[in-house]
Amino acid sequence: MSNESCLFCQILAGDIPADIIYESDTAIGFRDINPKAPTHVVIIPRKHIATINDIEPDDQQVVGSLFTAAREIAEKEGHAAAGYRVAMNCNEAAGQTVFHIHLHLLAGRSFSWPPG
Ligand code: AMP
Ligand code: ZN
Repeated sequence: MSNESCLFCQILAGDIPADIIYESDTAIGFRDINPKAPTHVVIIPRKHIATINDIEPDDQQVVGSLFTAAREIAEKEGHAAAGYRVAMNCNEAAGQTVFHIHLHLLAGRSFSWPPG
């Protein structure tokens, strides 16, 4: 299930430290090491799934739980009313650098559209 060479699997295993602020049966959330907004949380499934292209039908509940996590974290950190952005990059053209799917939760400032 986990992938030894995967940075986020290593965070899940506790082998690499992270500022973990959210944990559920299926997902965790931690603060991004290079934040792009005042609040920038990376939300990952406990299951190693490399990219959106690798999501299988049985993963729907796990993937859905990433959004539940985003909602809960945004609410807890006071961003629900003002608004926030969630984003998931897939492969190189979109800027994916860690190949374990993750939802970026960005909040605390205004965001332009479309993203660059
Ligand atoms: P992406 O470019 O969409 O694959 O996003 C990967 C994110 O992981 C980037 O925003 C990085 O800043 C973040 N990141 C990389 N290493 C760590 C780490 N050790 N702890 C927390 N966030 C990290
Ligand atoms: Zn992984």
